Amino acid sequence: MPAQIPTPLAILRRRVLSLVSPNALLPMTCILGCTIAVSIWLFYFDRAEQEKTVARQAAITSSENIALIVATNLEEVLGRGKLYARIAASDGLAMQATAMHLNPQLVGDSAYVRAAVFDGAGALLYSSARQAREPGLQPLLARALGQPRAAPAMSIGHPAADGSHPWRLPVLVRLDGDGGGMPGYYGAMVDLGYFLGSYRNVDLGPDGRIEIVHQDGAPLAIMQGGILLPASGQASAPLAAGSAIAAREVLADIPIRVAVIQDPALVMGQLDARHQSYFLRAGAYSLLILVVTIGISAGLWQQQQLHRAVATSEQEKQRLIAQLEQEKTRALALASQDHLTGLANRRMFQEMASAELKRARRSRNLYALLFFDLDRFKVINDTLGHGVGDQLLKAVAARLRGAVREYDLVARLGGDEFVVLLSEVPSEEFVAQLAGKLVQGLSAVYHDLDGHDVVTSPSVGIALYPRDGQHLDALLLHADQAMYSVKARGRGFFSFYDASLNASSALHSELAARFRQAIHDDEFCLHFQPKLTLDTLQIVGLEALIRWQHPDHGLIFPGDFIPLAEEQDFIVPLGRWIIDAVCRQLAQWRADGVPLAPVAINVSARQLRDERLTADFIGALAQHGIAPGLIEIEITESSLIEDAELAQRNLDGLAAAGIRMALDDFGTGFSGLSRLKQFPINTVKIDRSFIRDIRNDTNDAVIVASTISLAHNLGLTVVAEGVETKDQLVHLKAAGCDQVQGFYLQRPVGAAQIAPLLHKKSLTLQPT
Ligand code: C2E
Ligand code: MG
Ligand code: MG
Repeated sequence: MPAQIPTPLAILRRRVLSLVSPNALLPMTCILGCTIAVSIWLFYFDRAEQEKTVARQAAITSSENIALIVATNLEEVLGRGKLYARIAASDGLAMQATAMHLNPQLVGDSAYVRAAVFDGAGALLYSSARQAREPGLQPLLARALGQPRAAPAMSIGHPAADGSHPWRLPVLVRLDGDGGGMPGYYGAMVDLGYFLGSYRNVDLGPDGRIEIVHQDGAPLAIMQGGILLPASGQASAPLAAGSAIAAREVLADIPIRVAVIQDPALVMGQLDARHQSYFLRAGAYSLLILVVTIGISAGLWQQQQLHRAVATSEQEKQRLIAQLEQEKTRALALASQDHLTGLANRRMFQEMASAELKRARRSRNLYALLFFDLDRFKVINDTLGHGVGDQLLKAVAARLRGAVREYDLVARLGGDEFVVLLSEVPSEEFVAQLAGKLVQGLSAVYHDLDGHDVVTSPSVGIALYPRDGQHLDALLLHADQAMYSVKARGRGFFSFYDASLNASSALHSELAARFRQAIHDDEFCLHFQPKLTLDTLQIVGLEALIRWQHPDHGLIFPGDFIPLAEEQDFIVPLGRWIIDAVCRQLAQWRADGVPLAPVAINVSARQLRDERLTADFIGALAQHGIAPGLIEIEITESSLIEDAELAQRNLDGLAAAGIRMALDDFGTGFSGLSRLKQFPINTVKIDRSFIRDIRNDTNDAVIVASTISLAHNLGLTVVAEGVETKDQLVHLKAAGCDQVQGFYLQRPVGAAQIAPLLHKKSLTLQPT
């Protein structure tokens, strides 16, 4: 197959899958956890910083607003002084009576506590306090008198240095005499304490302050924490210093400025509680993420370890299965060859010849089975010794192999029996000619076998496919019979099978003709053979085996009529009878109070291809009220190979109905256990031919042991069939077999004899 180029989508998919694999998940989880934790802290610091900036900005803005308001109000208050000055100028300073209304307190202006008017030379014309001197205004007046006219009209002094009136601010306005008024000076004392008192409720914190500062830098009045402080001795806070939150406002045309200062520690302090809660929350979230990350990582790590362990054990299991398969294949290969001659042995021949005949069925060609038996071989063996006998067998094998075509099958069945299967022969005459040549060839002297010249001749029986049989068993039987007829008539030649002369063939026809009648007359009956656990010999099931109680021929065993029933297409109705009979028997036992055990029913290949099989089982179970768990079916490997789809459907249907399945006669086919995985098989029954020689034949012992291991690996139960001796039982126990069945434990018997065993539930072996 050409290598496929992966599409970009497939590559992407693989990458994504590799990313989400448990191996990648662990570091991804750690990275994700750390990223989230770091993000939380970054977010926390960023937000705290932002809030500080906003709070600071808000405090600055509020300071600016307050400064602006205070400055505007102060401007307005001091502006009123200019107004009073203008009134004084227009009234004429000489008119003292009129000047009375220059007293601001009289007009209800509480900010102005005193007023005075001076003439152009500085002489006091009017004093609201009715004093001869105004010492508080004198320094201002003296400075103003010396100033040119271009200087600002309003000048501001400092509160009295003696601290008698700490917030009284001397204010002097020059009267220029323009527009008809008199020139001179209007002086007043403005009560900054009164002015600032109205801002008492502005909350700037205990250290926050509003300062009114002279242009020359001297503080005039300070309000801190709602309390007026005397200006003298108080230093004005540096406005732009460091982190101070401050705003200042300069009054227009008046040498005063207003400053509002807030304590940054107080502004930021208000955020502290909130930031502390942010900090705690970020800490708690980080801790939570840490715990979750550690938890998930621990889980993933555990999962990773588990995955690794599973993968390792799966690899180990696969390796073991492969090794066992290999051993089994090797053992089977060894077991399929005849060691002496190198030809195929009986088992191999059966396998290959069956396959060949399957092909023959499709090709409709003529095939011939030649059965050879060496005349007087026993005598040669006994008189000249086994060495010569073995050499003779080898030489016969070589001559046989050399005389037939390469693709014809040649095998030694055992002893001095050989078979040849000639494939696709053109005619019966061709077979006769070849058989004649073979008889001649094998009859020629065998020189120098261990120093002896040996003469023997073969007796050859020939059966033709399809005339003398459709199946290998029938062909072998008939070729064997033909060979015996040769021996009976004097050895050393060949003979074709003659059906008309064959008694058993006559019997077969008779049996075949009677099948339907036999069912009708209830001539079939079931025997049961228990299956036992190997360790405790408890009965875990029964196998139902059919018998035919023939009125003329007595008890006939299934080997004599089941192949016939298959050939004659009678197996399906017979099978139905068996299914019904088993269910009926189970119901009967139940009614009699006998403890029930599951019963296995043999199902032939032809039945497996019957579309009604599943329905037959389900119907019979329902009719007799039997649980599906009480029924098991036994099928052979070969029945799974032909038309596997139909068989699979039936098997799946039966499995779905709850019926268990056993693979019968395992080892006689070559399918291998792992190939059978697709079928719903629960149990494997090792064929009795392997059990027979388990003590003597190491190949068989290896096959049995490896089959048991393999089957266990696949989760199957192993039953050994045909256990006839204690030795076999011991050997099977050592090999780890689960269950046994065989004459040594219990021969198949009728239902009546099984009932007491079921009551007892287990077998006790007689000491041997
Ligand atoms: P199987 O299913 O392998 O049945 C086991 C056969 O081995 C039985 O022969 C049983 O009597 C025989 N057996 C049990 N233990 C021993 C032992 O220790 N030594 C020896 N030598 N043989 C033992 P049976 O009853 O003659 O049946 C032969 C075959 O006929 C069965 O082989 C099965 O394939 C077929 N068969 C039997 N009953 C039925 C049936 O109801 N339906 C179908 N389709 N086939 C059946
Ligand atoms: Mg069976
Ligand atoms: Mg069997």
